[in-house]
Amino acid sequence: MNSNLDISIVIPLFNEEESLKELTDWISKVMQENNFSYEIIYVDDGSTDNSWKVIEELQHQNTHLRGIKFRRNYGKSAGLNIGFAAANGNVVFTMDADLQDSPDELPEMYRMIVNEGWDLVSGWKKKRYDPITKTLPTKLFNAATRRMSGIKNLHDFNCGLKAYRKEVIKTVEVYGEMHRYIPVLAKWAGFTKITEKVVAHQERKYGVTKFGLERFINGFLDLLSITFISKFGKRPMHLFGSLGTLMFGVGFLSAAYIGIAKIVYLSKGIKAILVTDNPYFYISLTAMILGSLLFVAGFLGELISRTSSVRNQYNIEKEI
Ligand code: UDP
Ligand code: MG
Repeated sequence: MNSNLDISIVIPLFNEEESLKELTDWISKVMQENNFSYEIIYVDDGSTDNSWKVIEELQHQNTHLRGIKFRRNYGKSAGLNIGFAAANGNVVFTMDADLQDSPDELPEMYRMIVNEGWDLVSGWKKKRYDPITKTLPTKLFNAATRRMSGIKNLHDFNCGLKAYRKEVIKTVEVYGEMHRYIPVLAKWAGFTKITEKVVAHQERKYGVTKFGLERFINGFLDLLSITFISKFGKRPMHLFGSLGTLMFGVGFLSAAYIGIAKIVYLSKGIKAILVTDNPYFYISLTAMILGSLLFVAGFLGELISRTSSVRNQYNIEKEI
C-alpha cells in the first residue's frame, strides 16, 4: 500500500461506542489542518457494545479510516500488535479511544520523530485526571521500570499516547500485557533514541476503565519476565548456572566444615556431637539440593532456547 503515508494512528478499543465519533472528527480536523496524509486504524478488541457498528458507519464518511475486529476480547497488547502489523505510515501513533489523550499533541510529536530524529516519543501525563488509587501505584510502577530498564528519562511508561518511527513498531512484538513496556522492548531491540513529551490528559468522558487494580500485580510480574528474557533469554545457563554454583558452593563448604570439625574433635579426643545434630548439616544439604536443581533448570532452559525459532533472530539495521 501507500508507503508515502505520513501517519498511522492505531487505536485499540474495547466497548467505547460513545467516544468514537468525537475522536474521529477531532483527529481528522488536526490532520487536515496540518496537511498530513494519514490513516486511522481502529482495532475493535471484541467489543460487546455497538463500537463496531459505529466504526462501520464512520468509515462510510471517512476514507482514511480502517477497522479490524477481533471475534473476542484479547487485550490491549493484542490490539496494538495487529494494528502495528497493518500500519503503513512513516510515523505510527498509538492512542486510547476514550478521549483521555488529545489528538492536538500529534503534530508536535510527529515533528520530534521526523525532524529531531527520535525513534520513540512517549506521552507524559504530567497532570493526570485519574483517581489517586491509580496515580500513586503508577508512580511506583514507573520508578521500578526506570530502574530495571535503564531508561532513566521516561516518567510515564504506560501512557497510551505514543509516537514511533515505523521501523520500531515493525520490529518489536507486543504480546500478553506487554503494552506497558513497549519503550523497554524498543530499547532492547536497539532503538535507543527515546524521549517524552508532556501531553494534555482529560478525565474519561464516557464509559469506564478496562483495567482494575490487578494491573499493578500483572505489570510487576511482566517487568520481571521481560527483564529476565532480555538479559538471559538466549543464555539461561548463565543465570541458573551461577546461582547453582553459588548455592552448591555454600552447601559444599558447610558440609566440609562439619566433616573437618568432626575429625578435629575426634583427633583431640573431645566428644563431638552427631553430624545429624549439627544445624549446618541441614543447611548444607538444602543448599546442595537447591544448587543441583538450579543447574537442572539451567540445562532445561538451554535445551528450550536451542530449539527456539528465535534463537538466532537479530535486528539488522543496515547491510551493504
Ligand atoms: N482496551 C482494549 N482492550 C482491552 C482493554 C482496553 O483495547 O481489553 C483499550 C480501551 O478501550 C482504551 C485503551 O485500551 O482505548 C485504554 O484502556 P482504559 O482507558 O480502560 O485504560 P486506563 O486509561 O484506565 O489506563
Ligand atoms: Mg483511559
